[in-house]
Amino acid sequence: MKRLLILGGGTAGTMVANKLRPRLHADEWSITVVDQDDVHLYQPGYLFIPFGIYEPTDVVKPREQFIPEGVELVIGAIDKVVPDNNAVLLTDGRTLGYDQLVIASGTTPRPDQTPGMDGEEFGKSIHEFYSFAGATALADKLKTWEGGRLVVHIVDMPIKCPVAPLEFTFLADAFFTEHGIRDQVEITYVTPLPGAFTKPIASRYLGGMLDERKIALESDFLVEHIDEEAKALVSYDEREVPFDLLVTIPLNMGADFVARSGLADDLNYVPVDKGTLLSTKHDNIWAVGDASNIPASKAGSVAHFSVEIFTENFLRHIDGLPMMEKFDGHANCFVESGHGKAMLIDFNYDTEPLPGKYPLPGVGPFSLLKETEINHWGKLMFRWIYWNALLPGKELPLPALMSMAGKQTEAETVEMAS
Ligand SMILES: Cc1cc2nc3c(=O)[nH]c(=O)nc-3n(C[C@H](O)[C@H](O)[C@H](O)COP(=O)(O)OP(=O)(O)OC[C@H]3O[C@@H](n4cnc5c(N)ncnc54)[C@H](O)[C@@H]3O)c2cc1C
Repeated sequence: MKRLLILGGGTAGTMVANKLRPRLHADEWSITVVDQDDVHLYQPGYLFIPFGIYEPTDVVKPREQFIPEGVELVIGAIDKVVPDNNAVLLTDGRTLGYDQLVIASGTTPRPDQTPGMDGEEFGKSIHEFYSFAGATALADKLKTWEGGRLVVHIVDMPIKCPVAPLEFTFLADAFFTEHGIRDQVEITYVTPLPGAFTKPIASRYLGGMLDERKIALESDFLVEHIDEEAKALVSYDEREVPFDLLVTIPLNMGADFVARSGLADDLNYVPVDKGTLLSTKHDNIWAVGDASNIPASKAGSVAHFSVEIFTENFLRHIDGLPMMEKFDGHANCFVESGHGKAMLIDFNYDTEPLPGKYPLPGVGPFSLLKETEINHWGKLMFRWIYWNALLPGKELPLPALMSMAGKQTEAETVEMAS
């Protein structure tokens, strides 16, 4: 009996288990998923919790519910992978062997990595919404906050869902407007990037949306520490941004066990071939989802598209065949913009987000780089799709690789903007 071991039962690990169980003979392959707890959290929902749009209970389900029959779920914290022995050690002393290993342990916000972030003010004037606990605490804070200087801040890239801080900012603008206190709130968006987003065309659109909402942009800001007493972000080039309420996106890092196993880059991500997701060091170790170092967005959509490609390559690889499929970094993200509208972006390693329609050329129903109500409904519908189609590994009518059909070309977009 051969053993497939999947480390992490989040978005990517669960999809891998569901895609591969029907395709690997049960009398030839065992499949085991390891996770530290039995709670599956729908992380895109964290965005809505601070504003009371979702309740915390809306994003939680038992992990076991999504693990298919014929796959064992082991609950335990992973301590270390020992690639030379094809073994994984758990912190409680158990050892699990494998023939093929899939690392799907994601990425985590790390407030401990920025001096002054996780001290006395954490949970008081300093908040985050990238964890369940953080999003819930921020919801409580916003219920009674009476206004002042709100600073939304990113420590460094890459972060999961790189548009979520912008979405938070747009939703905050709408929330304070709807509560009649927008004129008492000064909003500043502080980013290490040169503009609002990583890709130039989208950055121009999203930067324009900040301007329209009278939100100040502080770019190229690399935080050195947070001065808790003065309540200010302080950058390496000695700029200071004062706040009354800081909503920060802490440094995101892969799991510590990846580093302890000698498998990590300097942010604990697993170096893999960006086309196949196979480790660059070990022929039987793969990394899917946020855990890998591929230069794509860390997003559930990327996990979804890449798992499709991974599945085909994995099946060929274990049969000793060449891996034919190449992942292109395909990502798409709805960008919630407040007042019942959202934008959609669709891009890959080489092509930045462009205007157009998705998924059907000319028809949509979703509009790229344009705020519409249908996009907003798409974003809300996504939670149902996540639980009922995506995690169970069902086929969705969305091609894994990015298509230019329905999109303006980069040259057309630049020409129209000038
Ligand atoms: C605020 C927010 C908004 C987002 N919005 C969107 C969006 O709109 N669209 C989108 O596509 N994506 C979005 N995302 C990103 C998306 O949620 C992630 O990219 C996706 O969940 C990644 O899946 P993953 O399987 O790689 O990691 P995860 O789903 O995080 O799973 C990792 C698993 O590994 C387990 N694990 C880690 N370390 C250990 C250990 N030592 N021992 C045992 N188990 C361990 C964890 O418990 C976890 O279950 C958002 C994320 C956030 C935080």
